[in-house]
Amino acid sequence: MAKEWVSARSKTIGRTKIRKMYELEAQYDDVVSFTVGEPDFHTPQHIVDACLASLASHRTGYAPNRGVLKLREAVSERIAQTHGVTYDPETEILITAGGMNALRSAAEALIDPGDEVIVPDPYWCNHMHHPLLELGKTVTVPVREENNYMYDTAVLEEYLTPKTKAVTLNSPSNPTGGVISREQIEALCGFCRQHDLFLISDEVYEHIIYDGLAFYSPVMFEGMRERTLICSSFSKSYAMTGWRLGYAAGPAEVIDAMLKINENTIASPTTFVQDAGVAALRGPQEPLEEMVRTFEERRNILYRELNAIPGLRVGKPQGAFYAFADIRGTGLSSEEFAVRLLQEQRVSVTPGDGFGAAGEGYVRMSYALSTEKLLEGMRRIRRFINNIQSSK
Ligand code: PLP
Repeated sequence: MAKEWVSARSKTIGRTKIRKMYELEAQYDDVVSFTVGEPDFHTPQHIVDACLASLASHRTGYAPNRGVLKLREAVSERIAQTHGVTYDPETEILITAGGMNALRSAAEALIDPGDEVIVPDPYWCNHMHHPLLELGKTVTVPVREENNYMYDTAVLEEYLTPKTKAVTLNSPSNPTGGVISREQIEALCGFCRQHDLFLISDEVYEHIIYDGLAFYSPVMFEGMRERTLICSSFSKSYAMTGWRLGYAAGPAEVIDAMLKINENTIASPTTFVQDAGVAALRGPQEPLEEMVRTFEERRNILYRELNAIPGLRVGKPQGAFYAFADIRGTGLSSEEFAVRLLQEQRVSVTPGDGFGAAGEGYVRMSYALSTEKLLEGMRRIRRFINNIQSSK
């Protein structure tokens, strides 16, 4: 019998429905795509210029494994401003290759086989598929629209076991656009302290928040800094998805463990990309503010237009650039809705069940696309629904 080369462990990792929809939509022309999870803006010019200047001065060697010190200092300053908490750039910050690398290293640093990690359902699929899957056990806890898709601690209690080690939080959330309120985060922090749990706080959408709502991180609350790891990224805030730059901030012993993992895998992110990261954090923030204003306008259009289509309903997303639309009124499953909408009207959305069982009956729509395309997408979705209804 031929030898099996591919590990059993790697076979347990599934493909995400986001990727599947990308591949499917590539087979059609003139698609209006609501699948893509990246800003449709260019990286601000001053960041590009900083990268070019760094390259021109031959900053092309290995960076320190923790990351370029100047960038760690800039991250520390930024967290002090936004969170009011100080992290030592020497020991408590690690520069990573995007948020994903931060999350993956965090999982490797924190989770042993048998440990359970709580993840909300709906979840961002890579929280399940990528970082945690084969390391420990992810336990999905349903979250509800009426709670902004954030945890209810009474429900969390039901899923708690002696093996529960950590909880993941993602606010603002992908795929729902939900943002945790002060009351909810206080309850969650109290729950983690009471049950001695660690919190992995995925804050990649921290700056993309609407309606003047406040952003809350667990570390802003008493007794949480020592049991929380912040994972964040330049990808979304600075339209830098392809640059692969992010960071983690947390207790020195966790950062040290992550450092060992990164030292033996990626070594460090690209040196001149890290120099550009300094410009992103210390340079003008107007491009970020302008991008958030634009997303908010699109959010308003999507909310208005989608709710005017019979059979569809969407709550108002509070952050990130995703809407989680309820399609149960059409009688179709999430998968049928997404595939037929693409085949019949050339509009691509991601089936909600790709984000956990609680996502069935919903589709995720990213509004990182121009207003013109957004409106064209809405016209096509209306036609799709009209066609379904008239064929009933
Ligand atoms: N966390 C969430 C919730 C995300 O949506 C993403 C990207 O889509 C990431 C982390 C990872 O971002 P990156 O690796 O591009 O920094």
